[in-house]
Amino acid sequence: LSSKIESAVQSLKGQSKITDVNIAETVREIRRALLDADVNLEVARQFTDDIKERVMGSDVLTAVNPGQQFTKIVYDEMVKMLGEERADLAVANTPPTVILIAGLQGSGKTTFVGKLARYLKKENNRNPILAAADVYRPAAIDQLKTLASEIDVPVYSINQKDPVRVAKEAVSMAKSLALDTVIIDTAGRLHVDEKMMEEVAEIKKAVNPDEILFVVDAMTGQDAVNTAKAFNDTINFDGVVLTKMDGDTRGGAALSIRSVVQKPIKFMSTGEKLDALSPFYPDRLAQRILGMGDVVSLVEKAQKEFDEDQAQKLQKKIKSDKFDLVDFYDQIQKIKKMGNITDLVGMIPGADKAMKDQDLDEDSFKPIEAIIDSMTPEERHDPSLLNGSRRRRIAKGSGTSVREINELMKQFEQMKKMMKTMTKMNKVGRAMEGLK
Ligand code: GDP
Ligand code: MG
Repeated sequence: LSSKIESAVQSLKGQSKITDVNIAETVREIRRALLDADVNLEVARQFTDDIKERVMGSDVLTAVNPGQQFTKIVYDEMVKMLGEERADLAVANTPPTVILIAGLQGSGKTTFVGKLARYLKKENNRNPILAAADVYRPAAIDQLKTLASEIDVPVYSINQKDPVRVAKEAVSMAKSLALDTVIIDTAGRLHVDEKMMEEVAEIKKAVNPDEILFVVDAMTGQDAVNTAKAFNDTINFDGVVLTKMDGDTRGGAALSIRSVVQKPIKFMSTGEKLDALSPFYPDRLAQRILGMGDVVSLVEKAQKEFDEDQAQKLQKKIKSDKFDLVDFYDQIQKIKKMGNITDLVGMIPGADKAMKDQDLDEDSFKPIEAIIDSMTPEERHDPSLLNGSRRRRIAKGSGTSVREINELMKQFEQMKKMMKTMTKMNKVGRAMEGLK
């Protein structure tokens, strides 16, 4: 891996450098992106301050590939902030392991209880029993029973509105049936209130859980932080479960919760079905929050399109100055295939500046294609042939103007430069692949 990075770094020598000005700008943009992703303002500020410090203190300023390096710093910091390692669930020395689930109503607790039971059974060979301690609504007990029957797991419930008793008796039941895990589903309310907190605290006191998980709907954004804080102040939970990550939230709540309550995120739930649960992977969420998934997939796309062999040939051509309008035309087709051209160009160090004032989309290539189509093969291979009368002829044939042709020739020269960067980017793509 490190040799891959090294070679990428080697091949990128001599690229544009990051300045104080664009650090400030980039940091501002990162902060804006974080806020867009529902990260709490204070957390976003702290995070970007840290980044700035790290960037200023590092040799990114003189780095061979500042853009990538910068991104890596942001990404690393975010993974660090989210908790670098996966935090596993506690297991009791003497069974059963008692897991208490808490959170607001509708956050996904009951669904998660079912998912967790399925997960533990399947992945860890455990034999759980579920405790229906959400005793106020009969529908809640039914819901738990339905889920449990799907995965063939027993449920303990009683006909009285006494959640503490349900929890305690479920634990005794587990002991007598030699079941190794008790998962306690609790009642939530729509908002944090004292009664709810007292009740969870009482259950906690009564059964002394090995693991308390706080379930939070990732779609609730900023509110999630306050809820997490309130629950943590009362029951001092061990870990967080983020639900509804299948929604269009980018998951910024996770970052805020993590940094405000300092508890690890342990699971992520991504759907209503029982198998829609996965352990929490900080790197994946960091990518999502940063929108790096987009960047990474763009690079991957670019990599695919620029088949290595071709890139090498192209590079040779560029080096020996044989890159001609036929190649130019080919490259345009490739760029068009890659999707959002402005994004793509923005990713190419140096090219973003060169192309800045041009609003690029697929249509902007149409006149270029028409012009090249109207050239003779000789002209395409040797653009220096294009004197005034040839240019007038081509303008007529392509329905453009001599000015546009002059413009195109300028762009062609820019493209030549850009291609140099692009062939290098291919190497970066490979290095990034190695990072995953
Ligand atoms: P509780 O009140 O905390 O017990 O929440 P429930 O488990 O009853 O879930 C509330 C609603 O959210 C239900 O309709 C669930 O199907 C749904 N739900 C739970 N987890 C997820 C998830 O990860 N994704 C989606 N899309 N829906 C979820
Ligand atoms: Mg419920």
